Amino acid sequence: MPNKSTHDAGIVIMSVGTFSLGIWNGWNFTTVLYTIMGMFLGVFVTPDLDLYENCRGTFWCWFWKPYGKMFRHRGISHTPIIGTLTRIVYAGIFPAIYIIKNGISLPWNILLLILLGLCLSDTLHVIMDRISTWIKVR
Ligand SMILES: [Zn+2]
Repeated sequence: MPNKSTHDAGIVIMSVGTFSLGIWNGWNFTTVLYTIMGMFLGVFVTPDLDLYENCRGTFWCWFWKPYGKMFRHRGISHTPIIGTLTRIVYAGIFPAIYIIKNGISLPWNILLLILLGLCLSDTLHVIMDRISTWIKVR
């Protein structure tokens, strides 16, 4: 399995590539920016949160420990889109209850772009894990 630094480097390369592609093709700047923000969120909300030793910071580790107990390593947590949604639901359930209870409106277009970036980041993570495993098995 690639270590954290390798995954982080992959996210940085993908973000720079997305930014360059976006500028080159004349995509909306804020759309590209929010998508890249989602990609960088993948540094902290990584599929490897299913392993306790892969979290960053004491509070973050404490917060994600139950998630690691619920999902075995490289199971659903390492499935593109579905794994991302498990982490969104896990981290967002209590804020969602508060938001619904207080009738707060959210900028859904921005949140969906950030989610897209996070899904892309997680998909890259899974691809890097699978390539690493494939290389070790050969
Ligand atoms: Zn992984």
